[in-house]
Amino acid sequence: MTALASRSARSTPGDTRRRLVVIGNGMAGARAVEEILARGGAVQHRITMFGDEPYGNYNRIMLSHVLSGEEDTGNIFLNSLAWYRENDITLHSGVRVERIDRFAKLVFSDDGRATPYDVLIIATGSRSHLPPMDGMYTPGGRLLPGIFAFRTIDDTTGMVSYAQQDHHHRAVVIGGGLLGLEAARGLQSHGIDVEVVHSGGHLMNAQMGPDGGAVLRRSVEALGIRVRTGSRTTAILGGGKVRGVQLRNEPDIECDMVVVAAGIRPNVEVAVTSGLPVERAIVVDDHMRVPDEDEIYAVGECVQHRGEVYGLVAPLWEQAAVLADHVTGADPSSVYLGSRTATKLKVAGVDVASMGLQAPERDTDEHVVFSEPSRGVFKSIVIRDSKIVGATLLGDSRKVAYLTQAFDRGLPLPEERVSLLFDLGGPGEEAGVAELDGDAQVCNCNGVSKQAIADTVKGGCTTLSGVMDATRAGKGCGSCKLLVRQVVEWAADGAVEEDPAAAYYVPGVPLEKVALMTAIREQGLRSVSAVFAALAPDGAEDAKSKMGLASLLKMMWAGEYIDERDARFVNDRVHANIQRDGTFSVVPQMKGGVTSPEQLRRIADVADKYNIPMVKLTGGQRIDLLGVPKEDLPKVWADLDMPSGYAYGKSFRTVKTCVGQDFCRFGTGDSTKLGIEIESRFQGIESPAKLKLAVSGCPRNCAESLVKDVGVVAVDGGRWEIYVGGAAGAHIRQGDLLATVDDPETVKLLAGRFMQYYRERANWLERTYSFVPRVGIEHLRAVIVDDAEGIAARLDEAMQRSVDSYADPWAERNDPLTHGQFRTSLPLEVLPKVPVR
Ligand SMILES: Cc1cc2nc3c(=O)[nH]c(=O)nc-3n(C[C@H](O)[C@H](O)[C@H](O)COP(=O)(O)OP(=O)(O)OC[C@H]3O[C@@H](n4cnc5c(N)ncnc54)[C@H](O)[C@@H]3O)c2cc1C
Ligand code: SF4
Repeated sequence: MTALASRSARSTPGDTRRRLVVIGNGMAGARAVEEILARGGAVQHRITMFGDEPYGNYNRIMLSHVLSGEEDTGNIFLNSLAWYRENDITLHSGVRVERIDRFAKLVFSDDGRATPYDVLIIATGSRSHLPPMDGMYTPGGRLLPGIFAFRTIDDTTGMVSYAQQDHHHRAVVIGGGLLGLEAARGLQSHGIDVEVVHSGGHLMNAQMGPDGGAVLRRSVEALGIRVRTGSRTTAILGGGKVRGVQLRNEPDIECDMVVVAAGIRPNVEVAVTSGLPVERAIVVDDHMRVPDEDEIYAVGECVQHRGEVYGLVAPLWEQAAVLADHVTGADPSSVYLGSRTATKLKVAGVDVASMGLQAPERDTDEHVVFSEPSRGVFKSIVIRDSKIVGATLLGDSRKVAYLTQAFDRGLPLPEERVSLLFDLGGPGEEAGVAELDGDAQVCNCNGVSKQAIADTVKGGCTTLSGVMDATRAGKGCGSCKLLVRQVVEWAADGAVEEDPAAAYYVPGVPLEKVALMTAIREQGLRSVSAVFAALAPDGAEDAKSKMGLASLLKMMWAGEYIDERDARFVNDRVHANIQRDGTFSVVPQMKGGVTSPEQLRRIADVADKYNIPMVKLTGGQRIDLLGVPKEDLPKVWADLDMPSGYAYGKSFRTVKTCVGQDFCRFGTGDSTKLGIEIESRFQGIESPAKLKLAVSGCPRNCAESLVKDVGVVAVDGGRWEIYVGGAAGAHIRQGDLLATVDDPETVKLLAGRFMQYYRERANWLERTYSFVPRVGIEHLRAVIVDDAEGIAARLDEAMQRSVDSYADPWAERNDPLTHGQFRTSLPLEVLPKVPVR
């Protein structure tokens, strides 16, 4: 449990501001505080927030992207810890509020604290509903290993690591709604075979009727996800961990993991324990105030307003604005009258929009339907008294803006109803965007209105990406990007500028990679600061550009590069991999995965001497010493007396090998020898992203060479195949065959030439699995093997310079580059406790 307290948030004599306490640091709680701050609320209030998750405030919607590996947890935070500090907010993260004493005006939290308030906001959200099933829990009352909910960062990272563990191949997702389908799609991207078991008659039955559900099912099944509808799970099978699920009146399904996405339940325990009115959720009036409580408000999914409980973000943005109007007194007449939920989402890659009725209810209702299952397109509109009262769109959301507005505002409809579904001379997108109300939500995920986008454009920001950065519009599920573009175009009156920055190698220097390299070479710029001074607008340094530039310069100048440590990420500054709990992991080099008793003895001694909490074999055939404090790193390296294995860098890391000819009955090539030679040659070279290699002694491929950045396989006749662009992480791709060559020397030559070309042409952080399909294997073959561009000799020579300039970074142990290089530092993030095994 951690508190991040700022000076003014503590009780300061003479501070007469009201004490505002917020329970729940999720999307609604933080948004309410943002709205309060925007109304000048910091002058009136000293704000304290409690959140039982050990993090700052993040965009829960983006967890689907984290699960699928498209996004890092670090990129989904809405407000950084610095934001709390800068706004004088005391954040108690990882702390749960258990009770409110309404009479003494105190909240009691599980860290033993009693915190006084003048104004209280409850924003406790919901939790996953886990329907009772036999075999769900261990005797200790915990979920059986392999069962997951899908609600928090911890749920999501837990699922990812379980899915990535060996021998976990099959998952059952219970629930075929939005979350279930997102979970299924996400797990699939980790190579898991997924089956969705849904008790409803069709998928997403809360949002659409059976016909739409059938089209959606077809699209989902086309992705390779199996679907069962009308099925109920009765038990989880397995003693110590999940082995399968039992269904009612159907055969069991074997699986290694189960994700329960069977709905949500509002978190109302605090309110119930404290005597506040709770029905389906915490009852609030039109001011978002709890009835009979002058100073207690509630907002978000934990709230019941006029009998409705909402499970999407759009309503909570509206609620937060009204709440802030009242808490700050900015507009005492402000009222929340409920939300018409028009949902616009991307579910498992399929565009889905739904609003109002799913199907006609009265004989006089009109129903306009278009269905094209082979393309996954379904459109249905329900019209009553010439007004839209419901619509479902699947697979084609081009008319969403117009339909949402017609639904919200009851606009008169064109005679020719089919033009509601297609652009047949009816109101086009442009007209639709122009007619949208200013307060119409364009981006549901981040609560951005048309007006907010228009104001940003009017304020001088006329590129799409600039507006997206400034407002966060389009940075959630991504389904509204087209609409955001249309609004930007409309607001800029045709003067939208193409964003050249999209092509820059790094954001802070306005040049594409090749032009940037030319300028660096021509001007002899050897350090990051020299590049900024010469090439950035006004010479301004940009923190986000430093790592990419440092890598590029080191690649270009090899031994002549001038190293400036502030340009590097902490991993690169201290040559070790930072872990969840702020300690580091140390992986010594073990070329080709080969070690000796002497090395093993030394590693064991070091592990004993420094109380290393975990010693673990890595996927790259090395030994990882985990849990080393920063200040111990130089001593650990010295006692190991082995070179760095580069397990931390955007660089060449490791060569996995099989035993090959030495011992294996099948081996046709000496994979171990070649692996060691490749690792000796290319150790530590910088690259746009990490490089993992492998060499296998025969096509049985025990070193998994086909899914490596560069993979080598011995084939009959003493020849070697070289594959490039493979991956088996969050993204799975078989490498493309670059060449089949006769001897190990040519393998090393072509592998090096490929890596140099990749180093020169790839975007910063672009892995080879993106780079190779982007430039095309035929082009690569022409350049690397056939020297079609006449640059082979230059590439070889550039690589040789990098090879020659290799120095073991762990040698810095005796001579730190900066005074504080290995000094212990307070963590910037609230860190979880890592179990010691
Ligand atoms: C994977 C996923 C995908 C989603 N996709 C979409 C989407 O595409 N579109 C959409 O509109 N919505 C989507 N949602 C729903 C959306 O995330 C929620 O509507 C929104 O987060 C609700 O905000 P909230 O603040 O009310 O609750 P939350 O964001 O859940 O925040 C509540 C916080 O309060 C904490 N808390 C609870 N009790 C206590 C206590 N006693 N003390 C301290 N802290 C407490 C909780 O742990 C939590 O951190 C998705 C949700 C998930 C999980
Ligand atoms: S890849 Fe071939 S040579 Fe290498 S261990 Fe497997 S079977 Fe043996």
